[in-house]
Amino acid sequence: MAVEARRIVFLGAPGSGKGTQAELLAAALGVPAVSTGDMLRQAVAAGTPLGSRVESILKAGELVDDATMGDVVRARLGQADAAAGFLLDGYPRTIAQADTLDSILEEAGVALDLVLQVRVPEKELVRRALDRRREDDTEEVIGNRLAVYEESTRPLIGLYRGRGLLRPVDGNQPVESVAATILATVEAGV
Ligand code: AMP
Repeated sequence: MAVEARRIVFLGAPGSGKGTQAELLAAALGVPAVSTGDMLRQAVAAGTPLGSRVESILKAGELVDDATMGDVVRARLGQADAAAGFLLDGYPRTIAQADTLDSILEEAGVALDLVLQVRVPEKELVRRALDRRREDDTEEVIGNRLAVYEESTRPLIGLYRGRGLLRPVDGNQPVESVAATILATVEAGV
């Protein structure tokens, strides 16, 4: 019998719906969805030292530095609820972060099972971004988030494809269809 994947990275541009899909899959598998964006926003809202350090970076749609993100993710994946599996939403976002994730998992004696790439055409991404725009999201910041994705995060697709972990999923479908495709992909095993 195929072994169900339980250590999964979600890749996708801002607005691809990967956050929603990670939440749905987390509920189906009973493993936590770890959203680094949510963790950082919570730190900002709570006014922690991390929050005040990253606030302006989030506002500008830039990336928080790799070392800080490594600390955040290492601590989160070390918690008990992530021992049997996790879904990463928003991490890694750079090749250096992918290397750090490898080290974190290697130290724990585990490995990634799958990388789900939620694919949505650029035109649709821009439409969605303008649609769900938060008050402080200028068009410039939206454009910047997409540019940062293209430059820093897109190279991860090739990295994980090379390792045989990448599973592209059509994200330009209704939420439930995307969720069903993802669940089938995960149940097909590693
Ligand atoms: P998200 O909700 O995933 O779009 O993340 C919101 C913001 O948090 C991003 O625009 C970045 O400023 C920051 N962020 C989240 N995850 C990371 C990461 N892995 N590396 C760097 N910055 C991140």
